[in-house]
Amino acid sequence: MINITKPFLPDMKEYIEYLEGIWEREWLTNNGPLVNDLELKLKEFLQVKHMLYLGNGTIALQIAIKALGLKNEIITTPFSYVATTTSIIWENCKPVFADIDPKTLNVDADKIEALITPETTGILLTHVYGNPCDVEKIDQIAQKHGLKVIYDGAHAFAVKYKGRSIFDYGDISTTSFHATKLFHTIEGGAVFTKEASILRKMSLLRNFGHSGNEQFEEPGINGKNSEFHAAMGLVNLKKTDQILASRKRQSLYYDQVIATVRVTRPEIHKDSEWNYSYYPVIFESEEELKKAVVMLNSHWIYPRRYFYPSLSTLPYLEHQPCPISEDISKRVLCLPMYHTLRQEDIEYIGRLLLRAQNN
Ligand SMILES: *Cc1c(COP(=O)(O)O)cnc(C)c1O
Repeated sequence: MINITKPFLPDMKEYIEYLEGIWEREWLTNNGPLVNDLELKLKEFLQVKHMLYLGNGTIALQIAIKALGLKNEIITTPFSYVATTTSIIWENCKPVFADIDPKTLNVDADKIEALITPETTGILLTHVYGNPCDVEKIDQIAQKHGLKVIYDGAHAFAVKYKGRSIFDYGDISTTSFHATKLFHTIEGGAVFTKEASILRKMSLLRNFGHSGNEQFEEPGINGKNSEFHAAMGLVNLKKTDQILASRKRQSLYYDQVIATVRVTRPEIHKDSEWNYSYYPVIFESEEELKKAVVMLNSHWIYPRRYFYPSLSTLPYLEHQPCPISEDISKRVLCLPMYHTLRQEDIEYIGRLLLRAQNN
């Protein structure tokens, strides 16, 4: 069986060494030494100024929205994982969808301004598949209108834009370290900011608003993560360069193998160093996509429809038409991609895709 992804598991011995330390210290959570060490090492690896390690990528989004005091309307993308939209709803804000660019699948920055109203307080966009948004144009629009910017960088680990970490952009960037992501800590996430005052606020929010044992400065939440999760991150981080290199190799091989299949690929921002974290292909029609899925599934290969459906059609929201997102999400499929995927697996997938189209 070939699944869309397979979580990376490190050498168990290395993980156990960290566990022994936890048993010695008897310190399991609440900002322990492994959490601190992971934060330091990640800041160095990513070359970012500030970050906080959190329980998951969804609480990261919620803490970001809360820390910036966003209210009322937030302009966001209809083409992302559902957590991008639901965190806005959980913070009692209204998601206002800007349609995407059919080439990059990120929000078309030229569509943002028309959606700004007196109720708009922020912009929350996803670097879809790790492909950087048009960060400069978005920053300009935000500054002009006094809006805050959050980037959901759940797919964007290790991505650089013009030589800098993509997490350096926006008022806050967030990411996820969930088991299915390129770098993971089983469950986990993070927030990034360049502003010390925003960092302090998020650090209070992460820990119930405690500013001392008997002092509570903010209505916070529990956004912490444990020593066990941090240990997984510390072990996995050592393998990340290798994982990044294999993703690139696999991705370039897919490019060769599917060259004659009738699909197109999203355009990756030319000023970026991408992480090749996913392998999305766009079919000419939903019917072609479905034929491909049936063919692959019948050979125990399970791609995923990332992202389907378009978030603009969620049943609990009033429909805000986004024709491009709604069209593309019906035709886009992510092919399997993980560290141990072999060349012959990729060749097999390519042959099945061709066979599905020639049937
Ligand atoms: C995975 C993901 C999230 C949620 O992260 P969790 O760590 O699973 O909570 C949010 N946004 C996007 C775009 C994601 O892919």
